[in-house]
Amino acid sequence: MTQLHAEIISIGDELTSGQRLDTNSQWISQQLGAIGIRVMYHTTVADDVDANIDVFRKAIARTDLVVTTGGLGPTADDLTRQSLAIAVGVELYRDNNALETIKALFTSRGREMPPKNVVQADFPVGSIPIHNPEGTAPGIDLSIEQAGQQRRVFCLPGVPAEMKQMWNNTVEPAIIAMNPENKRLIKHFVIKTFGMGESDMERTLPDLVARGRKPTVGITASYATITLRITTEGNSDQECEAQAAETIETIQNCLGNTIYAYHECEIQDVVASMLQARGESVAVLESGTRGLVSHNLHSVQDQHSTIDQCQLRPALPNEKTDLASVAKDFHSNNQAHYSIVVGDVRAATADDVEQLPVIIASDHGLHHHEFRFTGHSDIRIAKAAKQAINCLRLQLLSQQAD
Ligand code: ATP
Ligand code: MG
Repeated sequence: MTQLHAEIISIGDELTSGQRLDTNSQWISQQLGAIGIRVMYHTTVADDVDANIDVFRKAIARTDLVVTTGGLGPTADDLTRQSLAIAVGVELYRDNNALETIKALFTSRGREMPPKNVVQADFPVGSIPIHNPEGTAPGIDLSIEQAGQQRRVFCLPGVPAEMKQMWNNTVEPAIIAMNPENKRLIKHFVIKTFGMGESDMERTLPDLVARGRKPTVGITASYATITLRITTEGNSDQECEAQAAETIETIQNCLGNTIYAYHECEIQDVVASMLQARGESVAVLESGTRGLVSHNLHSVQDQHSTIDQCQLRPALPNEKTDLASVAKDFHSNNQAHYSIVVGDVRAATADDVEQLPVIIASDHGLHHHEFRFTGHSDIRIAKAAKQAINCLRLQLLSQQAD
């Protein structure tokens, strides 16, 4: 059997108006990926019958499996039941068992079912209810044949907790049962890098980011951190790992020390755990990074013992020799094994951009670094703070190698 393709539809004015972010699609995509189903489309649609009918028809025409969330409540703006029935050209029927379950839920909460809730027991002909253990809105499980193709539609409530419970209890087992031979897994491997620009990276890794490559390698950049995501498909964890291994090795050979981790984390997390493993500590004196180096180091959880002291100074000398003597004094006056000293931004000259000097002071003396202080003003300082912390990471690595 070929791989199933899916579409996820999120329904509600709350989503299309921007009041609430659609997190259901993200979660469902992750669940589908884990059982080997490729999600081809995410669609978000307002509480409008015509728009709902339209997206249902398109989804059923172009994918094997459609999962919707939202619009199953009892009110006039909850349109999923009727839109789906119209989209596939069937009537609604009332399911007496579902009606009894809804009534019983109200009784158990010491209330009588309001008359408007009876519509929650209506289902498109050809579908069956999906039990909702915690809420009033049952889901819909509809199997149809369209132009000789088998299609399956699952409609779930919008409330994330109810949706997830119904997914785990009923929907996921039903999807797995649709294709007993298909045990394919999708597994992601993450490589975090810092210190190389996105276009340099694509130039260094030209074949890896090519379309259609297996396994695929995706690149995303955020504040000078570049994340590579390798996506593998196989029948077991071992098969996925074997598939990723060669690609990971190629990336390691190309990028070397710019790789700082193999899971989601920030550069300061890695530096803090390196220091902790060595029983060492760091102190910070900074000006041009406005306290962000200290802030980043303090934001690492349970690693505070590695931070000796942090100072923010409104101005530090700009001349290399003067900053060096400040760094020397600062380091000899604190108890830390390392000091990160970030100077002030050096003004641009006729033939160069603004620069930011960083000194790492330790028993090994002073190590000078200088970075181009460029980029959008929103991210310039964030990037500079990471660069300063990265200087210490690289120094710790080189000492390990000694
Ligand atoms: P109910 O019976 O509770 O009305 P429903 O199926 O009609 O269920 P909605 O009214 O569309 O669901 O959404 C109920 C609540 O669930 C929303 O107020 C919102 O808080 C949350 N919700 C809905 N859709 C999403 C989504 N895609 N991502 C995250 N939260 C959502
Ligand atoms: Mg609702």
